[in-house]
Amino acid sequence: MVDDARGSDLQSGGLRSVLGTLRGGAWIWREMSSRVRLEERRRRCSERSLGRVEGGARGLVGGACGGWARWTGLGGFVSDLGEIRSGGGAGHARQKGGGGVLRSCSVLLCSNNFRLFCTQACVLDLHPSHFIVPELSPDTAFSYSSHKAVTEYKEAKALGVDTVPVLIGPVSYLLLSKPEKGAEKCFSTLSLLDKVLPVYKEVIAELKAAGASWIQFDEPTLVLDLESDKLQAFTKAYSELESSFSGLNVLVVSYFADVPAEAYKTLTGLNGISGFGFDLVRGTKTLDLVKSGFPSGKYLFAGVVDGRNIWANDLTVSLDTLNALEAVVGKDKLVVSTSCSLMHTAVDLVNETKLDDEIKSWLAFAAQKVVEVNALAKALAGQKDEAFFSANAAAQASRKSSPRVTNEEVQKAAAALRGSDHRRATNVSARLDAQQKKLNLPILPTTTIGSFPQTIELRRVRREYKAKKISEEEYVKAIKEEISKVVKLQEELDIDVLVHGEPERNDMVEYFGEQLSGFAFTANGWVQSYGSRCVKPPIIYGDVSRPKAMTVFWSSMAQSMTSRPMKGMLTGPVTILNWSFVRNDQPRFETCYQIALAIKKEVEDLEAAGINVIQIDEAALREGLPLRKSEHAFYLDWAVHSFRITNCEIKDTTQIHTHMCYSNFNDIIHSIIDMDADVITIENSRSDEKLLSVFREGVKYGAGIGPGVYDIHSPRIPSTEEIADRINKMLAVLESNILWVNPDCGLKTRKYAEVNPALTNMVAAAKQLRKEL
Ligand code: GLN
Ligand code: ZN
Repeated sequence: MVDDARGSDLQSGGLRSVLGTLRGGAWIWREMSSRVRLEERRRRCSERSLGRVEGGARGLVGGACGGWARWTGLGGFVSDLGEIRSGGGAGHARQKGGGGVLRSCSVLLCSNNFRLFCTQACVLDLHPSHFIVPELSPDTAFSYSSHKAVTEYKEAKALGVDTVPVLIGPVSYLLLSKPEKGAEKCFSTLSLLDKVLPVYKEVIAELKAAGASWIQFDEPTLVLDLESDKLQAFTKAYSELESSFSGLNVLVVSYFADVPAEAYKTLTGLNGISGFGFDLVRGTKTLDLVKSGFPSGKYLFAGVVDGRNIWANDLTVSLDTLNALEAVVGKDKLVVSTSCSLMHTAVDLVNETKLDDEIKSWLAFAAQKVVEVNALAKALAGQKDEAFFSANAAAQASRKSSPRVTNEEVQKAAAALRGSDHRRATNVSARLDAQQKKLNLPILPTTTIGSFPQTIELRRVRREYKAKKISEEEYVKAIKEEISKVVKLQEELDIDVLVHGEPERNDMVEYFGEQLSGFAFTANGWVQSYGSRCVKPPIIYGDVSRPKAMTVFWSSMAQSMTSRPMKGMLTGPVTILNWSFVRNDQPRFETCYQIALAIKKEVEDLEAAGINVIQIDEAALREGLPLRKSEHAFYLDWAVHSFRITNCEIKDTTQIHTHMCYSNFNDIIHSIIDMDADVITIENSRSDEKLLSVFREGVKYGAGIGPGVYDIHSPRIPSTEEIADRINKMLAVLESNILWVNPDCGLKTRKYAEVNPALTNMVAAAKQLRKEL
């Protein structure tokens, strides 16, 4: 059943230099399940801000990061494990790509107590948004409960495919966990290393007994800025495991950024390891490290094919890199690899019916990346497929010269922004005064974040309009009715600043992308965000511009239905960027500036249409933060600048709101202040008011701020007392004249039966406190 070359190679326990390899195997699950589960997934995942797995302890799913982290909870917590199947997918890769090492994606660990905590978004990093963070305490006991890694290895083997099981490495497992509440100060999760290693030994022994010849440990934390004690933990962990490795080939990989020189030294100095894998796409410094020294006799898994994006590899460039590496590590020790697991990219271009042939020729999804890896490996072994390479070169050239990619006017305008500053002329407190004169809001003004419940009926209307089954007139009528219903409801609830409810939007990024030039959309390009949540990121392939107004029609219609202020509702440039597949032929900031200029036009058009309050959501600003601290300042600088560009030229009396999801902003609070929004609504309710501690510690915040007063991710209805209590806690650290009262995030995932009483109680709490102030 198995491709001969690969089968015999793996069975003999060795890897030839011609072998290509894939990091992780989760994409395979997506491929396999894409047909069977697509409908189900569409139903569950079509809304980007679905946010969290509902219901708290639903189990474990996680593992969205690099195919390495799938940890399971104890007893009965393993609800979604059945979804991850490496075996059958291996068959797919064989069919598409030919020879290569296939890695199954599995895991293992459980601790006796962790809480479910996961959020979502589509750009994946070592950001807790994308995996379930185990919460550990000094008393945590580990046991080997899920034998998934072994079961899947055997399952694939039974199909004739010898896979490389992938386990999260012990040090990364602990470093990416967090101390349980209350244990933060007194304990480091790394102190549990001795307790966790015996579980690893058990898994390794069982895999070995099942016939595994290679095991991969993912240690992505190696790319972080680690202090020397943390680096020492790698040495300790792997020397402890070394005896279990006998008779096995062990591969340790890192990804998503360059490996710092110290970490490289530690990693390549580990004993008992047969090979090391690096991401050679994100960051280029690792390449220099390898060139300046690589342990002899070890395999180098060179991640030259980008696992995080959808662009076709420039095969000529990669082949040059590989040739140079071969000279360093030796002919039989170089393995061509993807830069990380393929779970971060879309599955197969073959499924794409919406993309035209030109754009398709520029792309490579997971199935195509397998072919690229294989083609590179064969070329290295002297079996270059000339036709494949020249088709690739032609596609690269066509992308570079296509008029669809370049818009000189946009390029010039974006280039002019660099190095300069853009901010509103008047300072925020003077602006707030001017706005208050116009808006005349009570203290503790109430508002919501934007969306109202997305009913089945609404989804049907949007779908039928898209499919041209209903006319534009019918569509507008249906959406108008919905807006009117939402406006009336908010008036009845006595909310101060209203929203139109976003009924015309399926997704806060896609809605804008579809109206901007430079964006393309896939029909089936689903990417797992976390657990069973998937998103379908747009592809930004060209210079971005806005041919016409995108939201003015709906916002002015909504404003005409009420005398209260109606918020115009936009997605900010950084969030559009971070939740898309971004072009790799120019720096990210360049693309972000282009989007900022498009959104700026929209902001100005909304203002001209009489919209006095405009919210520019930057839900994903935090998660775009680079992994290395040394790169934070640069990112924050252009990201915050991009946001300011969108509203730098509007009147003082126009109030700019922004909204951010996900807590843990304490380390970037100064950048948030520097966004210079008039009001920020920010997630707060599930982080035990962690946000407030910044202000408690003396950070001055002069703009309006609405830390969410209740958690919209849960169906639970908060009582008036509970909300009042929360607001009181906020009032202890924030001035009453800047505090807003609002939920944590949009209401689209809730039902009206939950939204009505929750908002009733929210308004009642605000009114009660107004009397007391
Ligand atoms: N305005 C958006 C909404 O309410 C914001 C969503 C988000 O922050 N993820 O749905
Ligand atoms: Zn939000």
